[in-house]
Amino acid sequence: MEKRVFNFSPGPAVLPLPVLQEAQRDLLALPGTGISILEISHRSKTFDKLINEAENNLRTLLNIPGNYRVLFLQGGALLQFGMAPMNLLRGSGKAADYLVTGTWSKKACQEAATQGSVQVAWDGKPGNFNRVPKPNEMKLDPKAAYVYMASNETIQGVQFASEPEVGNVPLVCDSSSDFLSRPVPVEKYGILFACAQKNAGPAGVTIVIIRDDLLARSPADLPSMVNYKVLADGKSVLNTPPTFAIYVVKLVTDWLIKEIGGLAKMAELNRRKAKLLYEVIDQSKGFYQGHAEPGSRSVMNVPFRLANPAHDEPFLKAAAGRGLVELKGHRSVGGCRASIYNAMPWEGVQLLADFMREFCDQNH
Ligand SMILES: *Cc1c(COP(=O)(O)O)cnc(C)c1O
Repeated sequence: MEKRVFNFSPGPAVLPLPVLQEAQRDLLALPGTGISILEISHRSKTFDKLINEAENNLRTLLNIPGNYRVLFLQGGALLQFGMAPMNLLRGSGKAADYLVTGTWSKKACQEAATQGSVQVAWDGKPGNFNRVPKPNEMKLDPKAAYVYMASNETIQGVQFASEPEVGNVPLVCDSSSDFLSRPVPVEKYGILFACAQKNAGPAGVTIVIIRDDLLARSPADLPSMVNYKVLADGKSVLNTPPTFAIYVVKLVTDWLIKEIGGLAKMAELNRRKAKLLYEVIDQSKGFYQGHAEPGSRSVMNVPFRLANPAHDEPFLKAAAGRGLVELKGHRSVGGCRASIYNAMPWEGVQLLADFMREFCDQNH
């Protein structure tokens, strides 16, 4: 077998090895069926059981209240940028409030503007998106259709430590890059959504957790595939869902429950990994420079620059030589970025930290 390396990709990203091994072992025939997951009908009893288990695992891990629906949709997180306003904003006569903390929430705000009136309730642009807003800085409209946020900005490495206080207005959250990385009070959200390919599975499925009273807001004239109410009534199998991706989400959530022991444990491991890298950055006397302010630092994505950009290429090349790959920063911000999602083992982060210290000592 080809040797595996430590993959710091922002997404699609590293998956737990036991999950890949189980998918490989059962690829030709799911236990008790004689049929591959790639060949099975989405209307079969076997698949019905898998999708229910995936949902139940999510309910267990996140302690999802009974008045929330869990949908497995397609179109990625980006489709949700449009669907949330199609369902909650269009025709509401209200405006939606957007907390713009980085590239993804900015994009979501632009998409929403195609569907209705949006208000930027806070904009992190003046600080080059290096922090989340303080409570008194958000200009929230108590009559807004919803408040929108991205809990973790994957590109800037800026993360909310907890939910902003938004009163009775539904909070819509893009949690794509920190989903399942820590416990979350789902009851504080109207909609919590995440594409799977950062922390929950492979590309192709997006998980949408929605409070059921919001389904009544979906305009009847929306096409079925973008209508939350119709999709929820169809129990995520309105048409052929991404069966393989949903199966892997089931395996990943099994792994989180049985091998990790839940999200509190996962969060603890994630905090330790992030702390190790931020310490290297902080102790490098400016050789490495982090992007986010300490209070807003992401536990999942650690973007950093080398003070001398001429060091970028040699750094990335030497890292790859150690089996530490996909560390190049996003083209919009440059530099480097280490994405250390749930499935990135401690060992990989430790190797990266050791390598960074060594590279700094040699090139300071
Ligand atoms: C990756 C990512 C997206 C884009 O997801 P797609 O599935 O490619 O549409 C959106 N938001 C955040 C926070 C992300 O990390």
